[in-house]
Amino acid sequence: MAELVQRRLDRIRAEHAEVADGELADYIPELAGVDPDGFGLSLSTSDGFIYESGQAATEFTIQSISKPLTYALALHLIGLDAVDARIGVEPSGEAFNEISVDRVTNNPKNPMINAGAITAVSLIPAGSPDERFELIHDFYSACVGRRLELDHDVYTSEKASGARNRAIGYMLQSFEALDDDPDEVLDVYYRQCSLRVTCTDLARMGATLARGGMNPVTGRRVTSAAVVRRTLSVMVTCGMYDGAGDWVSAVGMPAKSGVGGGIVAVLPGQLGIGVYSPRLDDKGNSVRGVLTCRSLSEQLGLHFLTVRRDARATLRAVYEPRSGVRVYEAHGDLLFSGAEEVLRVAERERDRYDVTILDVSRVDDIDDTAREMLSALGAALRADGKEGHLVDPDGVVARAGSPEIRFRTVDDVLDALDRRRRPTP
Ligand code: GLN
Repeated sequence: MAELVQRRLDRIRAEHAEVADGELADYIPELAGVDPDGFGLSLSTSDGFIYESGQAATEFTIQSISKPLTYALALHLIGLDAVDARIGVEPSGEAFNEISVDRVTNNPKNPMINAGAITAVSLIPAGSPDERFELIHDFYSACVGRRLELDHDVYTSEKASGARNRAIGYMLQSFEALDDDPDEVLDVYYRQCSLRVTCTDLARMGATLARGGMNPVTGRRVTSAAVVRRTLSVMVTCGMYDGAGDWVSAVGMPAKSGVGGGIVAVLPGQLGIGVYSPRLDDKGNSVRGVLTCRSLSEQLGLHFLTVRRDARATLRAVYEPRSGVRVYEAHGDLLFSGAEEVLRVAERERDRYDVTILDVSRVDDIDDTAREMLSALGAALRADGKEGHLVDPDGVVARAGSPEIRFRTVDDVLDALDRRRRPTP
């Protein structure tokens, strides 16, 4: 049953597997040495269940996907006002490494371009660069749910070739947008960018943001919902650099890319996505990563303006009117996440029933994705040697003409089962 979701993800990844457009980031020499064909996709549900497709375990450096995290940590440690006094929240429409500050405030325009990210590092209160990096390292690890490791080769490579970032650092100092020594701040910035992650780590980090700052796997709150709201807002407007407008229209999820080839995308309340493919477009975003996120959004209905309400609490009641018969009762709006939950619970509990009854009579709204996923459930159950019945008086899942029998109530199903079991005289 959960394989119905898995197959969809595999299919979406496969759609873009042949794309070989884009170039590896070579301005950091070490990044030019990675396998250009690596391609992985992970999705974490808001309760921390992970789906993986392709090279989901391949490690790469987090690069700019670190920016929203350090920004969140700065907000968490010194508060919104103190951060706002030093970094703007306006989309710059510029490249990520533009040497620029806001003309009026003399502050970096936003925390998703290098200028703002370098300032964000300088706002982490600490007695030394090492202590600052440790705070950052601990925070990222808590978001992901495992201790991340530093890629020393990438760190050394970026540090040795970081003329542009040094230019940005000294420019910031000259505008009094940086209080600390630029080289010390940059050293921490290079280290944060060189932490290694997998796309599953990114999906987990995304799920932590989707849950308003609570890591669903460790159960640990890493920051407040207010900090996450601000961080996601800036990811919406500035996360994909000057590709942001296009991204919001086509994909509609707060996201952040990095020149290591990763992209994290977040659907608040619902899920986190991590994609990895290191060939980049001219904006520095992963080519296959962008295409994959586009397809995920279109095919699973994940645009944040489509997912209007929190569809997380879809499965309201699971009960057993008699032994071996399990009823799953869905409420509210059924979208991808709700349908995924139904399929996964049905799979997890498969040893506990011979017959399932899916009751969708209290569903308000359903999208095509959820309808397709749930109408495939009957066949998946039969393939598993089980029986599945649908209580669907209004034809929410099984539309007119569908071969699926639609019952009006759970009692009607139970009556039908009884009639069948009663020996014929
Ligand atoms: N470390 C990289 C840099 O500063 C990060 C850039 C990115 O991922 N867009 O150039």
